[in-house]
Amino acid sequence: MKGIIQLLPDHIANQIAAGEVIQRPASVVKELVENAIDAGATKIQIYIKDAGRTSIQIIDNGNGMNNSDALMCFERHATSKVRTADDLFTLQTKGFRGEALASIAAISHVTLRTKQPDAETGIRIEMEGSKIKMNEPCVCSSGTSFEIKNLFFNVPARRNFLKSDNVEFGHIRDEFERIALAHPSIAFTIKHNDTEIYNLNPGVLRKRIVDILGRNSNDKLVPIEETTDIVALHGYVGKPEFAKKSRGEQFLFVNDRYFRDSYFTHAITRAFEGLLPSKHFPSFFLYMTVNPAKIDVNVHPTKTEIKFEEDKLIYAILLSSIRQALGKYNISPTLDFDRETSFDLPAYMKDQPPVEPVVQVNPHFNPFRTSSTVPGRNSGGNQFTSAIKAEGFGNTSIEKNDWDAFYKIEDVETIQPTPLIEDQETSFESNHFLFSGRHILTNASSGFMLIDTYRAYERIVYDDLMKKFISNPIASQQLLFPIEKQVTKSDRSAWESNETLLKRFGFSWQFESDTLQLNAVPSILQEESIQDCIEGILERIAYQTIDKGEIAHAVILSIATSAGKRQKITNNESARLLLEQLMRSEEQLSPEGKRVISYLSTEEISNRF
Ligand code: ADP
Ligand code: MG
Repeated sequence: MKGIIQLLPDHIANQIAAGEVIQRPASVVKELVENAIDAGATKIQIYIKDAGRTSIQIIDNGNGMNNSDALMCFERHATSKVRTADDLFTLQTKGFRGEALASIAAISHVTLRTKQPDAETGIRIEMEGSKIKMNEPCVCSSGTSFEIKNLFFNVPARRNFLKSDNVEFGHIRDEFERIALAHPSIAFTIKHNDTEIYNLNPGVLRKRIVDILGRNSNDKLVPIEETTDIVALHGYVGKPEFAKKSRGEQFLFVNDRYFRDSYFTHAITRAFEGLLPSKHFPSFFLYMTVNPAKIDVNVHPTKTEIKFEEDKLIYAILLSSIRQALGKYNISPTLDFDRETSFDLPAYMKDQPPVEPVVQVNPHFNPFRTSSTVPGRNSGGNQFTSAIKAEGFGNTSIEKNDWDAFYKIEDVETIQPTPLIEDQETSFESNHFLFSGRHILTNASSGFMLIDTYRAYERIVYDDLMKKFISNPIASQQLLFPIEKQVTKSDRSAWESNETLLKRFGFSWQFESDTLQLNAVPSILQEESIQDCIEGILERIAYQTIDKGEIAHAVILSIATSAGKRQKITNNESARLLLEQLMRSEEQLSPEGKRVISYLSTEEISNRF
């Protein structure tokens, strides 16, 4: 009987393989940009049409290819990056499988133009579904240009599987950001349908992060730096108060390659323990350099998962270096505004020492001394088993409790002034009568108290912000939709000349000519109070050149009064909490000097009858 096994024709093999490597237009962008980087490019331009459906063009100024390499590069397993099996263990390049171009060419129309720097002419090749359609010399600049048209033209299932342009371009942008963050010294531009998305100049890492995340992010970054025999670590973590409700700003790189790792992410998140509001995620941009022989990038075809030989030690190093950096930052907060220009506190603050969070460091702590538990990575990959022994640094390992003992951060909020109004214990037990949506009537030791809840809340917020902003930036909330406010030229310049101070209070914004667009505000502000608060600030700072202490006072006052107006006491419990907080204040007037509490003595009451 005739044998039935045949070898698959190349173009079909390529098409099948393409399914693994090229899932969507973003995969093409990633592979081509990585090739450009491997080719030593210092400038990479990306042009996308219709989220990559219509065309993707990548132009680089790298080494280019000679004619025969240009024809060869579309062959399966054609690579210039691995020659011997040993090379696989010392890889410095992003590519090595020689699969990407063969896969892309199998499922699209490709035009390649390439020229080596010392060559007179270059070569232009057109491919269609793995077949060479044209091949001719061309005049072009040094480097390489790949244009990919009609992606998945012959794989309708894939093409139909693509999501909306928004979603697909979102994936492209994600890939782009990861690569751009990994290579701050390379210039990148990316355009989508003639809209410029990014135009990134080469520079230091911090600049690249700020260029991608936005100007306001500069103040949010805490540097991380640690060098050990196992890993050299550098980068930034976001200050805890800027943590996000999504994982959007979490970036890990190893040897300039982006990767995901839930085990390491766990270490980083643990370093933030106790510093983050619930359901918030820290931002991080962390770069590890490890000996390539100690990692295996081969686990996943698109290479976002990487196996580390010494992952438990790296876990411990991540945890300790981030904790230390956060501790340092808490002890000596980098004041955003210029410290040299004398910063005058309002007179009534002068003799109160600023309250700083207390970080207790145990000088005898040695994380590598005793035996026991760092959560281990189970062999399957990304779940945590609670107690796997961490080996390394000789035969030592790490005790979880030791880490917890290392840093104990006491919150500023736990430090409370002594109440001035005495003997309120009994009144807290009592009932609170709410009326007019604004006032509380409650019994005092000899009579009744009437409390204006708006002003009470103003006082509480004012005191709280006054106390906190000296030692720490004020917690900020990101707005889902920016809030806009028309401003005059002088408003704008007053606002901008207090930029650093306003940022410290948690505001983040940009100006669109005469429109102030707020992206984030102090988290104490309710959404409905924002307009009012901005008006208050502008009114108070617009026409005066007052000193920084007074401006801080003006900003805090505006926040407190506009938050106060929206204060809603709806039940006994919220009334009780408000009174309890109010009683801690040293002042009995509102920050604007108005009466907060009015007493009705037993005597006055009896006089009425
Ligand atoms: P790999 O990157 O795994 O080697 P690819 O299919 O992505 O495989 O690329 C095949 C080869 O084509 C590369 O090894 C390289 O020699 C060459 N090549 C691809 N893109 C470029 C480029 N932009 N500039 C110069 N050479 C390139
Ligand atoms: Mg490649």
